[in-house]
Amino acid sequence: MDLFNLDDVKEILLIPIRPGMEDTIAWHYDAKGIFTVKSAYQLGVKLRDEALSRDASSSAGPLVQHQTWRSIWNQELPGRVLIFFWRFTHNSLPTKLNIKRKKVDLDTRCPVCWRLDEDGGHIFLRCKAVKQVWRALDCEDLRLSLCECTNAKQVADKILSLPKEKRLLAIILLWDWWTARNKANAGERMASTDDVCFRIRKHHTEFCPQEAPV
Ligand SMILES: [Zn+2]
Repeated sequence: MDLFNLDDVKEILLIPIRPGMEDTIAWHYDAKGIFTVKSAYQLGVKLRDEALSRDASSSAGPLVQHQTWRSIWNQELPGRVLIFFWRFTHNSLPTKLNIKRKKVDLDTRCPVCWRLDEDGGHIFLRCKAVKQVWRALDCEDLRLSLCECTNAKQVADKILSLPKEKRLLAIILLWDWWTARNKANAGERMASTDDVCFRIRKHHTEFCPQEAPV
């Protein structure tokens, strides 16, 4: 019982049990309970559409909200970077505090500096290690201006309103920093500022050849 919320316990106890039947693992999103890539894709499209309509009905106004999401997918960057940035904008990346919000008990300290709790604002803008990266790429003014935002969507909107070169560089910076953070979080050595900046510049040249060098 300690594993679940009281509301979930009530729901679980309401599940009818058929005597004499063995337990099986079933994929809830398929009529036969079998996992397929097709059904996972359909689920992804459904969740995306739901998110879009939810965003469209929120307080900032349908057009403005819709423009942010559309603008993300229009950036000339690989899909994996855009998916990352979309999750960043939604504040749905598995930072330690986001995981804790799902009632998982864990050490919430930043896996890079081990000094402060890790939320999006800390890991991408305020951690002493990420500050060095912004500075090394001559983006300290931008970092300070992003620190004034009160949520991830405001940060994303500010980035999306930048001139192309700076905009793509900022998105790549966030993505490469998240990759380095994930490695440190998995127990690998944290990359140095120079290493991370090298990767950011390399990806910037690779993904946007007309905009480089930085
Ligand atoms: Zn930190």
